[in-house]
Amino acid sequence: MTADYSVQGRVAVIALNNPPVNGLGLATRQALCDGLNRAHADAAVHAIVITGAGKAFSGGADIKEFGSPTAFQEPNLLSVILLLEAATKPVVAAIHSVCMGGGLELALGCHYRIAAPGCSVALPEVKLGLLPGAGGTQRLPRALGVEPALNMIVSGEPVKSELLVALPGQKLFDKLAASNESLLPEALALAAGVADLRPLPLVRQLPCKHPQGDGYFQFARNMVGGMAKNLPAPLKCVDAVEAATRRSFEDGMRFERDTFIHLMWTPESRALRHIFMAERASAKIPDVPADTPQRAINSVAIVGAGTMGGGIAMNFLNAGVPVTLLEMKQEALDRGVATLRKHYEAQVKKGKLKPDKFAQRMALLSTTLCYDDLKDADLMIEAVFEELGVKEAVFRELDRVAKPGAILASNTSTLDINQIAAFTQRPQDVLGLHFFSPAQVMKLLEVVRGAGTGKDVLATVMALAKKIKKTAVVSGVCDGFIGNRMIEQYIRQAGFLLDEGCTPAQADQAMEKFGFAMGPFRMSDLAGNDIGWAIRKRRHAEKSAMRYSLTADLLCEQGRFGQKTGAGWYDYVPGKRDAIPSAEVVAMIEAHRAGLGITPRRIADEEIVQRLVFALINEGAHILEEGIASRAGDIDMVYLMGYGFPVWRGGPMHYANEVGLFNVVQAMRRFAQNPLDDAQFWQPAPLLARLASQGKTFA
Ligand code: NAD
Repeated sequence: MTADYSVQGRVAVIALNNPPVNGLGLATRQALCDGLNRAHADAAVHAIVITGAGKAFSGGADIKEFGSPTAFQEPNLLSVILLLEAATKPVVAAIHSVCMGGGLELALGCHYRIAAPGCSVALPEVKLGLLPGAGGTQRLPRALGVEPALNMIVSGEPVKSELLVALPGQKLFDKLAASNESLLPEALALAAGVADLRPLPLVRQLPCKHPQGDGYFQFARNMVGGMAKNLPAPLKCVDAVEAATRRSFEDGMRFERDTFIHLMWTPESRALRHIFMAERASAKIPDVPADTPQRAINSVAIVGAGTMGGGIAMNFLNAGVPVTLLEMKQEALDRGVATLRKHYEAQVKKGKLKPDKFAQRMALLSTTLCYDDLKDADLMIEAVFEELGVKEAVFRELDRVAKPGAILASNTSTLDINQIAAFTQRPQDVLGLHFFSPAQVMKLLEVVRGAGTGKDVLATVMALAKKIKKTAVVSGVCDGFIGNRMIEQYIRQAGFLLDEGCTPAQADQAMEKFGFAMGPFRMSDLAGNDIGWAIRKRRHAEKSAMRYSLTADLLCEQGRFGQKTGAGWYDYVPGKRDAIPSAEVVAMIEAHRAGLGITPRRIADEEIVQRLVFALINEGAHILEEGIASRAGDIDMVYLMGYGFPVWRGGPMHYANEVGLFNVVQAMRRFAQNPLDDAQFWQPAPLLARLASQGKTFA
């Protein structure tokens, strides 16, 4: 049953009933049409109320139908809305809680609308690279006014019903109900009151004009174009709303439809829809069922109040969870707390945090030098120096004091979680929680699953991640986990580019033009070049067969660790972060190149992008094949949320699908022929080679 039908007095009530948010899937649309027909056939019914059962009026399209032909199967949403408009008995939409996308378009097809206060109203299609495709761009401007409608359509952001009702001249809502509880009785009264009124009002018949049309739409295009960057949909939304003001309703509808279909096929919309699905999928772990019991996390202990410890603490304080910070020395604690306080004070100064909220958060923070004070913590997160010996000492202490059932997590970037778990008597309670710096800002959280990590522990931290507003992605145990393991190959390839003729600035510009937030060298300067140096030394000690360009080592030997030392691949002016190309570094690269006997060549931007992005893709394929990541989409989420991969390209693995795996492999074969590159590097991962030869994708 996807809609409930009842008759109350002279009024039929159709309640959409497709949990969780009454998505307008085929069965729901069919049930709605059946309800309308039944109401028309019943002479005792004089008016109809449409509402939503449960937690929403309607959240719009059913995501289970996403991208499938059933989304367009008759009765499709356009047909349902036509049926509503053609109804000979008045139809009242009784709207509450959530009214979004197709849900709002449906309501706009009704003759009357009454909303409960606090209802979130939105046309969020632009967030998927689309525009509302069932009349939203034509009816909302008529009902709400051109400017507020355009704002909603272009931003996709929800607006509360009471704010919309207050807009002068609006005809979106005929009435605001007193409360959620009174919505239905008030809707029934409204329906009974209009039962005999004719003609029935239709939104499509309302006038739609903007007094300064040309000027206003020019202004809107400038604003939206500037913000939309590489996404075509926002400007198309402007076009469609303008069409509503200039064309007949029917013509405007045709324009909307054509534009919608065009946008559906853009790579940008495909990327955004992929991300939408990948984000939801990444929250689920294949072998951890949704009903896995969770442990209660009401208090958190953090060991180490350095860069990461302080940032991690803020996440929990922001979510109202008490935190105890532990350090070895009082000075370190004081320093950590002072830094954390400074971050909050900066937010207060910018007006982003209210002073009383700041006080509340600080009141949730306590500090200690003694492990025994951590005995009541539900979750302990270690963020001390990246040395196995130090981690061992900490985990032995945590194991000693932690209460049974407490979760013990490490924020290590590189160390083996299984080894860390073995320092305790409770490997089932141990896992990695790899936050990214700055931990209070970055959305990504890699959840590192040890061989013995309990399913309830995983279920608990995935839910907790949501609470602290992180996108959690599960990674198996390997060197660098998903994100840093891939970035190592990307940075290695960037080194070969320097040897062959690139400058750091040229490589960075090519990648930034492709859409990365930062190219590889600016990123390394920000993270600290010493980190990669330490990894290369370790690889050397391990006698790794991996070959590296030596330029980065030469750079580090000069103490050019990046922004923190005021010099790296670029020069920096004290107190500023602008990367200034360094003649000294370029001369160093040239001298090194000459020493190798290499005649430099000009490398095209396209080659730079391919070599760096395909390096990510190939390592991603290894990670997928080894089961370190359970889905290609998980890898994409890591790169979108943690590494500044361009959103409109959907992440490295989705991008590979778009390029075509066959083409990726062909290019890799070509790169392998380059004597200055590394043939071994370009060996396609077996999974990539197999999928490419079968004409398949990572999806
Ligand atoms: P940091 O040097 O800024 O902070 C480490 C803190 O741990 C220091 O305040 C130190 O006094 C304290 N400490 C050291 N030994 C201790 C002990 N035995 N008991 C209690 N406190 C102790 O380092 P960081 O950058 O915050 O890194 C911490 C961890 O997070 C490392 O494992 C690192 O690999 C990882 N990590 C760092 C980043 C990053 O970008 N900085 C990102 C992700 C993960």
